[in-house]
Amino acid sequence: MLQPIEAGLSRPWYRLKLPEVLEAEYRAETARQDGLYVQSWLAVFTLFNILSLAMDHDVFGPERFIVPLAMTLGVFCPVALIAIASLRGRPTMVRISGAVLATALVDIVVVLNSARLAPASHTDVYIIIATIVPLVVGLIAPLPFRHCLWFCGCSFVLYVGLVLGLGLCTAERSGLPLLVSGLILVPLKLCYSREWAARNTFLIALRVKLQAEALARANARLTVLSETDSLTTLSNRRHFTERLEAAWDLAGEQDAWLGVILIDIDHFKLLNDTAGHAEGDLCLVAVAAAFQASVEAHGGLAARYGGEEFAALLPGAEPAAARLAGEAVRAAVADLAIRHPGLSAEVPVTVSVGVTAARGRTRDFGIQAADLLKAADFALYAAKNEGRNRVESFMPAANANRPAAGSGRIQAVVPSV
Ligand code: GH3
Ligand code: MG
Ligand code: MG
Repeated sequence: MLQPIEAGLSRPWYRLKLPEVLEAEYRAETARQDGLYVQSWLAVFTLFNILSLAMDHDVFGPERFIVPLAMTLGVFCPVALIAIASLRGRPTMVRISGAVLATALVDIVVVLNSARLAPASHTDVYIIIATIVPLVVGLIAPLPFRHCLWFCGCSFVLYVGLVLGLGLCTAERSGLPLLVSGLILVPLKLCYSREWAARNTFLIALRVKLQAEALARANARLTVLSETDSLTTLSNRRHFTERLEAAWDLAGEQDAWLGVILIDIDHFKLLNDTAGHAEGDLCLVAVAAAFQASVEAHGGLAARYGGEEFAALLPGAEPAAARLAGEAVRAAVADLAIRHPGLSAEVPVTVSVGVTAARGRTRDFGIQAADLLKAADFALYAAKNEGRNRVESFMPAANANRPAAGSGRIQAVVPSV
């Protein structure tokens, strides 16, 4: 779409039309306009005609004043009022142009009729006013150029026809009507320039809109990329840490439980060394998918914490539930039965799992989100020490470097599953 926009912006001055895809869009966008602008100008124009009756009175005198009065109030004003009424809401451009044209044509007829009947000393004044009418209306009304062509063409033909037909272009006075008739065509220039500018403004606005949309899409993609681990498509460590902080804040506000799980693939270096790095990657992807499915089944968020370590947070999980989730994760990976070429055939790839959980109100005693991670890490360390492929758990402690083995274990609080 940007290419036709650029092509449209660099089109020559004599070509109003935009490239095809854009022309239809431009026409659809400008097919209707708020009628109030033209309505207000037509009202001013009508008022001006009524006020000009004072001049008619002076020119025609009290006896013959009835003619311009009847023409203005009986012919012009009803047409102008119908035109104003027809422009309520958001009329189509065709309706706007029709209303403007009808008002101007009727006024030309009324004014040239006055020119015919007025004393000879005032004929020229009315002839000039008859050209000023379409000039002013054509300049003020926001007509598209093709409508303006119709407006100026019809006004010009009517004016010239009436001037000739009513005998206003006599041998003594042929110069003035012809000279001023040219004024009727002046709005064409303005309408052309106005539409040229309007079309360019449309193109520039469309370009800005498309570029803004492309930027928003790119930003959304960047956000996803910055939060995602490219190999496993799980959340990355940074995103996980942000979500953990937010979840711990929320748990504090609601005094809710929050569980954290850390897992680490057992003997993964050996797998890499024996099967190769590519095989190691496939194993990581498979373990990540099983981990994610288990964690999400327990309502948690799974993430790749780094290397062959994964982390999960479990909002609302009490120690027992967190431990259950940890056990489910361990079993899910073991059930994958991924062969580990560095170990004996019966031993598949397994994970060691560290679990912790804390209640939100312990935030007031100094427990921070990082303390939950530390506790899960201690538990994971214990699971490794105690033989791997198992789940261990610790309760977090404020500013603890390492809880004494057993002292903070969840098993002490919640029965092992
Ligand atoms: P343990 O049972 O004690 O956890 O032993 P381990 O061999 O799993 O532990 P260690 O931390 O020594 O090894 C982790 C290995 O994970 C080392 C590193 O090469 C590998 N690793 C880290 N990231 C990637 C990765 O993206 N792809 C692959 N294939 N290997 C990775
Ligand atoms: Mg490791
Ligand atoms: Mg490992």
